[in-house]
Amino acid sequence: MTEIRAADRDAIDQAAGLLRRGELVAIPTETVYGLAANATDDRAVARIFEAKGRPRFNPLIVHVGSPAEAARFAVMDDRVQELAQRFWPGPLTLVVPVRPPPPSGAAEPSPPSTLSPLATAGLDTVAVRLPAHPVARAVIAAAGVPLAAPSANRSGAVSPTDPRAVHEELAERVALILAAGRSPIGVESTVLDLCGDRPHLLRPGGCPLEEIVEAIGPVETAAVRADDDAMRPRSPGLAGRHYAPRTPLRLEARHHKAGEALVTFGPDLRQGPEVANLSADGDLVEAAANLFHLLRRLDKGGYAAIAVSPIPMAGLGLAINDRLRRAALPDRIG
Ligand code: AMP
Ligand code: MG
Repeated sequence: MTEIRAADRDAIDQAAGLLRRGELVAIPTETVYGLAANATDDRAVARIFEAKGRPRFNPLIVHVGSPAEAARFAVMDDRVQELAQRFWPGPLTLVVPVRPPPPSGAAEPSPPSTLSPLATAGLDTVAVRLPAHPVARAVIAAAGVPLAAPSANRSGAVSPTDPRAVHEELAERVALILAAGRSPIGVESTVLDLCGDRPHLLRPGGCPLEEIVEAIGPVETAAVRADDDAMRPRSPGLAGRHYAPRTPLRLEARHHKAGEALVTFGPDLRQGPEVANLSADGDLVEAAANLFHLLRRLDKGGYAAIAVSPIPMAGLGLAINDRLRRAALPDRIG
């Protein structure tokens, strides 16, 4: 049963508890309602894609409570800090490099927090935002973790700006809907890529471009995406950032040959250091949660190829197969 509750203190604490336990909660933000999950929990983030019925894994915006929280997993250089200071909290999302793990043995004052690779679609960049809505901020503070949150609608539908619309979209797919009336801005956040020398606008939104230009100077707009679900590279120079294993993938494989690794799905008796099961129970949410971790591990094993057993084309299987197909392309842009 999906509960809709007015976002008072008690409901916010309930939402935080659900999020910490890996459940999905719809929360109000000043842009649109978000479908939130703990961004450090693979299964929780996998559930977002399942609930939305998204046919592919695209990167999600990670919502934080402070610039310092963002700096635990994101590289916040001077230009990024300046933008954060000027526009956060607010409807501006900043795409920045993921902070690399510290060299082993090095003591760090604030250890990097480990985002689920599903929250970034396996990229080494991450989209972060500090929302202005008091309820969103209270939920993030109470949960104590960064929240991955795309708009709270089924894939392909318009973003909901009030709790009724969220209920129409996601009833029974979300544990709780926190209600706080209409989203004051009503359009998505502006997305700005700060990974290169020049800032690129990826998506126009609630933060006016003129104000950004006034703050940091010229912004490239050639990379603006018409289709939010699109994962095509923004410009040729940026294509290489998409994660794909270097080891060739062989899909729809029934068996693996000598020298190959094997990815299985569902009950399977084959075992060994070169065999990895996405989900022995045949659970597609678990398989999605494991996908990027398994590929990265096997990619380091020096195998001739990674053979992948068939994955059913249902539920999250669509996104898993999409990701595998694009990782198997020779030019590896996916
Ligand atoms: P949504 O979460 O539905 O509001 O959409 C998030 C938007 O941010 C989409 O346009 C994504 O493609 C974009 N985005 C999120 N993370 C990244 C990233 N690491 N690199 C580029 N674009 C991103
Ligand atoms: Mg959306």
